Amino acid sequence: MTSYLFEPHPRPAAAVLGESAAFPVHRIFCVGRNYAEHAKEMGFQVDREAPFYFLKSATTLVPSGETIPYPPGTDNFHHEMELVFAIGREGFRIDRGHALDHVYGYACGLDMTRRDLQLASREKGRPWDFGKDFERSAVMGPITRAEAFGAPSGRVIELTVNGETRQKANLDDLVWKVDEIVAHLSGYYRLQPGDLIFSGTPAGVGPVVAGDSLRGTIDGLEPVELTIGPAE
Ligand code: MN
Repeated sequence: MTSYLFEPHPRPAAAVLGESAAFPVHRIFCVGRNYAEHAKEMGFQVDREAPFYFLKSATTLVPSGETIPYPPGTDNFHHEMELVFAIGREGFRIDRGHALDHVYGYACGLDMTRRDLQLASREKGRPWDFGKDFERSAVMGPITRAEAFGAPSGRVIELTVNGETRQKANLDDLVWKVDEIVAHLSGYYRLQPGDLIFSGTPAGVGPVVAGDSLRGTIDGLEPVELTIGPAE
């Protein structure tokens, strides 16, 4: 048993619908520009050759229902509503036909983004971390087990801010489907139980301000809710 110089941080974990045990989170992968209309609003065409990714630290995870402070260093804090899927079985170079066997479940997530910092780093060809991987930036509702949810297709995905719809699309609009992402990503990483994948956001991303209430839904899943508090 290792002894530590100070108390280690608690392991990030996500709630699972109908389970008293939590899902321990290992890594958070995020897919970029995975809806054609969102790619367009960001000034790009979708690249059909291969998906691309960025990561968020597992420690950025926040459960649904929290109030988070408006983050430091930004004047353009954006919502990105996303389907999240959770890996429950280890796999390397998984073929597409077996990909969904590795998915433990699905959840509603918010990939909160410091858009001004992301765009500044994008322009300079620098990493996106300051725009994407910061404290309390990955928000997630409880996981619904894959058997209970069914196929990750044909569902409406929607985000409201203060009751007004900001993002609305269908999971069928995903450029890279869940099985394709699992197959592709597992060629570069040994996927592990506890890995989460944020699958990308539809069009309609935009700023939030202190006092805003966000509510993201996907048919068949528990919603994700977030309130923005004042800056610290
Ligand atoms: Mn995103």
